[in-house]
Amino acid sequence: MNEAVPDQPHDPVRDPWRAPMRAALEEAARAPGTGDVPVGAVVLGPDGSVIGRGRNEREATGDPTGHAEVLAIREAARAVGEWRLSGCTLVVTLEPCTMCAGAIVLSRLERVVYGAADEKAGAAGSLWDVIRDRRLNHRPEVIEGVLAEECSDLLTRFFRGTDFGARPTIR
Ligand SMILES: [Zn+2]
Repeated sequence: MNEAVPDQPHDPVRDPWRAPMRAALEEAARAPGTGDVPVGAVVLGPDGSVIGRGRNEREATGDPTGHAEVLAIREAARAVGEWRLSGCTLVVTLEPCTMCAGAIVLSRLERVVYGAADEKAGAAGSLWDVIRDRRLNHRPEVIEGVLAEECSDLLTRFFRGTDFGARPTIR
């Protein structure tokens, strides 16, 4: 597996997260089948294996808390068998909102990796920085901008309605 892109400089911080971000993008691509905004997330265990997956299901389930991150965190906690996700990494296609940033801090995740920034509602550096707030005693590491262009393209296509409008369901 070669993740290197010829015209892109080697990025030692972001390159290791490109493969898991592709898994999150796969989750995101399944969301619009239900009319949901395509945001996807995976949680990686300490050994790097995927232990939780989620995609935005707010429309599908009518649940205002049905964001990709929350659903992936819940599945990961079930897999681990407790609420602490120490040593785990959340990988999500869009910068987390305040609710998800709160859930990330409370679940003691070690790291958050996200793709596209959310200038309007992001709580991991854009509008707020809940995750790295110095007043909190647990502050996960944040790595932003992994496959950012692909992550934001998916959202742009969804909102333009050019990509998913004609499809009744995906998978
Ligand atoms: Zn959220």
